[in-house]
Amino acid sequence: MNSKIWLSSPHMGGNEMKYVQEAYDTNWVAPLGPNVTGFEQDLKSYLNSENQVAALSSGTAAIHLALILSGVIAGDEVLCQSMTFSASANPIAYQGATPIFVDSELDTWNMCPNYLEEAIKDRIAKGKKPKAIIVVHLYGMPAKIDQLLAIAKKYEIALIEDAAEALGATYKGQKCGTFGDFGILSFNGNKIITTSGGGALICKTEAGKNKAIYLATQARDHAVHYQHSEIGYNYRMSNILAGIGRGQMEVLDKHIGHRRANNQFYKDLFKNTAGITVFQESNTDFYSNHWLSAITIDESRTGFSREKLREALLKENIESRPLWKPMHLQPVFKDAPFYGEKVSEQLFEKGLCLPSGSNLSKNDLERISKTIHIFL
Ligand SMILES: *Cc1c(COP(=O)(O)O)cnc(C)c1O
Repeated sequence: MNSKIWLSSPHMGGNEMKYVQEAYDTNWVAPLGPNVTGFEQDLKSYLNSENQVAALSSGTAAIHLALILSGVIAGDEVLCQSMTFSASANPIAYQGATPIFVDSELDTWNMCPNYLEEAIKDRIAKGKKPKAIIVVHLYGMPAKIDQLLAIAKKYEIALIEDAAEALGATYKGQKCGTFGDFGILSFNGNKIITTSGGGALICKTEAGKNKAIYLATQARDHAVHYQHSEIGYNYRMSNILAGIGRGQMEVLDKHIGHRRANNQFYKDLFKNTAGITVFQESNTDFYSNHWLSAITIDESRTGFSREKLREALLKENIESRPLWKPMHLQPVFKDAPFYGEKVSEQLFEKGLCLPSGSNLSKNDLERISKTIHIFL
């Protein structure tokens, strides 16, 4: 059997161990230390903005804190892109708030500004103004963030950017995650860079960052003894894992180059296949990191479904995966309101993510190419 080709697997740069070793040698084996501070600095200068960065235990924790810092409490409503991974929406439930799901548009597969405004108007008419909006930059593709931000500003609702998949992606030259009131990043094992598990919260102000760190370290008051006036969390990143992150930052742009080259590889591979479209930027305002390369399959033209292609790849030990199943179709969120039509639902039915790792070898790409050619 050929070795497995993964959708997206960890890809170390080489210097990660140096930082981890330093942490070990200096006994900073804790959720604080020089690597945590260094990793936050690295991220801050990479994002090239005035924003502040707090390193956390996961992207999910970052979304949770962003909701708390946006003032979301039990009984509130939060608008959320339906087409996403469940981690975007779960923290809404942690707060005892209700998710209101919004459909996508076809250029970016992300939240549709029209449906967003329709949702806001209708929720206000029904008696409750939503407290926050969670926009996702799916698969590294920037959302139509200027339009979405304009709506958020018009109705004075906090905007949280879920850039878990979009580190390094830009809209009109500005990095994803730095537009909204808060942005979040993920360093889970399959993301563009990894700390094995981890995340970050991007804040507009130093005060916001300090409040996030306070909440992430059990909300301890200033006192010599342990005193607490608020409920806190254990969400800080470990200094060992931040060491991996520092090494990964050194190769981030190289990894993005590889992922974008993979996207070009699939564009070339499918250029003569009627009915298969490789997902790409609709114009030069959008710069995707192409975390995952995805295609849509129009069965009426290809004569086969995405499942048939997925199974053919699997038989050759090549992993591929349907697009995220929209949240409004998930059993756990079946009672949540939804605004839109069938854009995300149809994307889910037609879409397939293909192997996209920055560590795919020439040999891997040849195997993928050969398997797909034979299948076609
Ligand atoms: C991975 C991911 C998250 C969650 O990040 P974790 O670090 O795994 O908690 C959130 N949103 C999206 C869109 C993701 O892909």
